[in-house]
Amino acid sequence: MKDYIKIDEWKIIEEGFTPTHNKISESIFSLGNGRMGQRANFEEAYSGETLQGNYVAGVYYNDKTRVGWWKNGYPEYFSKVLNAANWVGIDILIDGEQLDLAKCAVSNFRRELNMKEGYLKRNFTAKNNSGKQVEVEAIRFCSMADDETGAIKYTLTPLNFDGAITVTPFIDGDVVNQDANYDEKFWDEVAKGCDDNGCYIQMRTKKTGFDVATGMQFSIFQNGQAVGATDEIIQKEKYIGAKITLQAQKGQPITVLKYAANLSSQNHKVEDLIANLKTTLDRVSKKGFDTMLAEQVAAWEEKWKHNDIIIEGDTSAQQAIRFNIFQLNQTYTGEDDRLNIGPKGFTGEKYGGVTYWDTEAYCVPFYLSTAEQKVTKNLLLYRYKQLEQAYQNAGMLGFGNGAALYPMVSINGIECHNEWEITFEELHRNGAIAYAIFNYVRYTGDVDYLVDYGLEVLIGIARFWGYRVSWSADKEKYVMLGITGPNEYENNINNNWYTNTLATWCMQYAMEVMGKVKAMDADKYAKLITKLNFNEQQETKKFKHIIDNMYYPYDEGNQVFLQQDGYLDKEQILVKDLPASDRPLNQKWSWDRILRSCFIKQADVLQGIYFFEDKYDIDTIRRNFDFYEPRTVHESSLSPCLHAILAAKLGDEARAYEFYLRTSRLDLDDYNNDTEDGCHITSMAGTWMAVVEGFGGMRMRDDKLSFNPFLPGKWASFSFHVGFRGSLLNVKVSKEQIAIKNLSGIETTVLVHDKEYVVKANNEVLI
Ligand code: BGC
Repeated sequence: MKDYIKIDEWKIIEEGFTPTHNKISESIFSLGNGRMGQRANFEEAYSGETLQGNYVAGVYYNDKTRVGWWKNGYPEYFSKVLNAANWVGIDILIDGEQLDLAKCAVSNFRRELNMKEGYLKRNFTAKNNSGKQVEVEAIRFCSMADDETGAIKYTLTPLNFDGAITVTPFIDGDVVNQDANYDEKFWDEVAKGCDDNGCYIQMRTKKTGFDVATGMQFSIFQNGQAVGATDEIIQKEKYIGAKITLQAQKGQPITVLKYAANLSSQNHKVEDLIANLKTTLDRVSKKGFDTMLAEQVAAWEEKWKHNDIIIEGDTSAQQAIRFNIFQLNQTYTGEDDRLNIGPKGFTGEKYGGVTYWDTEAYCVPFYLSTAEQKVTKNLLLYRYKQLEQAYQNAGMLGFGNGAALYPMVSINGIECHNEWEITFEELHRNGAIAYAIFNYVRYTGDVDYLVDYGLEVLIGIARFWGYRVSWSADKEKYVMLGITGPNEYENNINNNWYTNTLATWCMQYAMEVMGKVKAMDADKYAKLITKLNFNEQQETKKFKHIIDNMYYPYDEGNQVFLQQDGYLDKEQILVKDLPASDRPLNQKWSWDRILRSCFIKQADVLQGIYFFEDKYDIDTIRRNFDFYEPRTVHESSLSPCLHAILAAKLGDEARAYEFYLRTSRLDLDDYNNDTEDGCHITSMAGTWMAVVEGFGGMRMRDDKLSFNPFLPGKWASFSFHVGFRGSLLNVKVSKEQIAIKNLSGIETTVLVHDKEYVVKANNEVLI
């Protein structure tokens, strides 16, 4: 755990230059706009420890799988979102000596991420080996208003000398992924060049053939006066820069305004890329830095109107929740149904930047409440469009006949994960995708989605489970063998309660939706089942038989759902009795020891109870929580948030708050010692859930939002925004009252502690 980030309501601040924190800060101070994003790498050269990262959403490379022992059915490649051309670089030479903070005496270093306005600012003073001192201020952002562009204002002032300063803004496509399986470079250069206005470079990914054109235009000012043309264009393989040498005067600032754009062949015809890039750059440079920044501030103001959570009385918690919301909005804006949310977003390479069940299980609730309906719909459509690949994935595992298995890890729908216990066994991801459809439809009321897309996916998923279960003559029940649940500290187990529960729920829900769709549009229904070759009578009979005869492990002694067969054969030790030196287990224990232990990586039975809470009475929830919580090590960042929500439901306010704290500052305080790999973007949605569903007690009940809030003891109040079917509510919970303000023109009815209240348009209800 680190605590070097300064506490502030709206800003993330680092003061003082600590090279050992640099990679952590590069993650934390990352920028993004849904279309592109980057780590907080310095503009000028840096020879110290750094992880370079510029990412273009949806652009990936199929990196050949690397495993020790190949197993039939393993995917051939792992798709990863690539490190793309570095567009932020500005090389600085001071009398021939490169400005490099690893080689200078650095003072007054400060990095500031302004979350309210969406930009990153860095200040420092550096003294080089020859004693020349410069002061630098660098401001940059990825434009939310014009999402293929970014801008930088880099101002350098010589403090104690007059002399030559050479400035080289550049684009460098010669980048690598540190996680490359075979140390390959993933990009080829297609073209590059400069004209009077700027420079560009067009790169193409090997194998996948995405073209990305990255370009820059810039202007340079000395003491406020524009300075003339470039002295020299530097061209190297995959690199282009424009060099200008200025006679700098002590105390006179040199300012570089650099405008950059990243255009990908996903959105432009390859042959138009350069022309469109130039038009884009002309547009933004004509606007100028200040106008672009003003647009950025306005775009973020609009986001915060729908997203902000205000916590009074606890600035650290305030900063943390805003950081989580800020990063989620930087990662996914919902404009494009080909894009999704990597567990690290644009903040690092880990998890390959590709899609996991995290999206459906954790991110969907966040976007449902904080963004327009189309944003979550696009997340759903992403999976709908990958149904063909889901059939292929199921086929790889030997299941045909229209069974759909969505991948655990993928960007193009084809499974990428290559650990057998996950690829073949961690099947609950398929259920999360069905659950997200259910969640979306119950929240938005968009039943048409079921007719046009949802049912098709649900039938594929239900069919998969239908094939994956097997009949146990011994138990006279259906069982599911060879499974890994969400708790990856158990592999190849039989009858994971959560997966069995999810499987039958999927079948039940698919049948329910069949009924709905048939009633809504019999014609479309008939066409769909013909297309899918779905034998309604036979197949639903099979589903029903499975639903009625599924085996769910249960322990009579403790009266709890049993995580899996044989769980109680394990030595039952509680986490509190583990020596601190043994934790985290995944770094301290051998894998076999973890597998043999009773310790649970992340919510598993409790994940099921969270999803299907309405099916269980409070005593059942309590017994299961009290049993599993003390055995859970929360070594997945996705875990504590669900425990926070359930603890809140059980009225255990202290523990709810404790779990919340574990998620909300996870990256800011580098709790798990892994923030340098990137921030835990998807678990940030869990942090939001802990506030809104945990402390706010928000649920969907009978087509209405329902709240059962409580105020954490340390807070004076908290308030959050939720959008619901056209209305926008602000719910404020303070010691005295609950205030629900309708900020929209659409009346809505809510439940608070089970009592109905009508919140009229632009009106407030005080409870
Ligand atoms: C968790 C998975 C999760 C993945 C990506 C793993 O550590 O166990 O549930 O999908 O991280 O966030």
